[in-house]
Amino acid sequence: MEHRKIIIIGSGPAGLTAALYAARANLQPLVFEGNQPGGQLTITTEVENYPGFPDGITGPLLMDNMRKQAHRFGAESVYEHVTAVDFASAPFTLTVGEKSYTADAIIISTGASAKLLGLESEQLYMGYGVSACATCDGFFFRDQHVAVVGGGDTAMEEALFLTKFASSVTIVHRRDELRASKIMRERAIRNPKISFKWNSGVQEVVGTEDGGVKRLTHLILKNFVTGETEELQVTGLFIGIGHKPNTDLFKGLLDMDENGYLITQGRSTYTNVEGVFACGDVQDHVYRQAVSAAGSGCMAAIDAERWLAARGIE
Ligand code: NDP
Repeated sequence: MEHRKIIIIGSGPAGLTAALYAARANLQPLVFEGNQPGGQLTITTEVENYPGFPDGITGPLLMDNMRKQAHRFGAESVYEHVTAVDFASAPFTLTVGEKSYTADAIIISTGASAKLLGLESEQLYMGYGVSACATCDGFFFRDQHVAVVGGGDTAMEEALFLTKFASSVTIVHRRDELRASKIMRERAIRNPKISFKWNSGVQEVVGTEDGGVKRLTHLILKNFVTGETEELQVTGLFIGIGHKPNTDLFKGLLDMDENGYLITQGRSTYTNVEGVFACGDVQDHVYRQAVSAAGSGCMAAIDAERWLAARGIE
């Protein structure tokens, strides 16, 4: 069983910034990078709002840089997914498949994942036309008609990115007003390839199967005001309707709000269990930005470092 002073679960901007600070405090943190090393930014295109990059930077490169910076000071990454945790008493125990690790302090930065519509047909065509990541799959839809569901910044970003490949992008939104920020809203509305289906939702994803290969052919949309349904001929559907915190591992162990976000105390990163800290999107449903996640990762490392020091662990 391997022991560390600090173990960090999750490797987005929050986790890797916590790793950088903990490493520079000589605490040799171990980072469990999980199923999506680098987190959500690895499936985004251009990041234009992370300070210090006047010309923007791609999400994957930004995350690679953050990881390298943390490693430079002694942080280590394990490219595995934590399967169980025991926070009953310190040192805390983490299970990773067959292996167990113990830690004096834990920093949770498991982030959030894309939400899906919950339709059976959405699952059926996932990877065969349905996607939650335009950056990953947009390339496959060159000169095709695609749709994006959602009215927030994610949906606008996905739609704008898709215009580089697709011949048209239809944004399907359940209201008649976008939630997205003004700049993203205006970019989407101005783009000649983008059109909108307002007050509408995807009722069904429809396709064909030929020789075992599934192919999406159209969507059935429902207008919530008129109650009418219509067919939208698209070969791709991108879901951009927000996120769910990755907290299943901590159910019953840590305090969460009604949406499953971890609750931290006051302006700190302390959870309800002494020695367990949380930062980034897993505890923030308000700001949810890379830079605010990185900031809270820094706070978690400082909180953990001080908490350990008070117990004679330096
Ligand atoms: P949001 O929660 O902001 O928006 C989700 C959108 O999806 C809303 O329009 C919502 O509709 C719609 N929606 C939610 N559930 C369903 C459903 N079941 N069926 C149909 N539609 C649904 O999430 P985002 O992921 O867009 O953004 C999260 C945060 O990340 C925001 O703070 C955003 O600013 C930020 N962000 C910033 C980016 C950037 O600056 N480049 C890029 C991406 C995100 P309704 O409006 O009716 O609630």
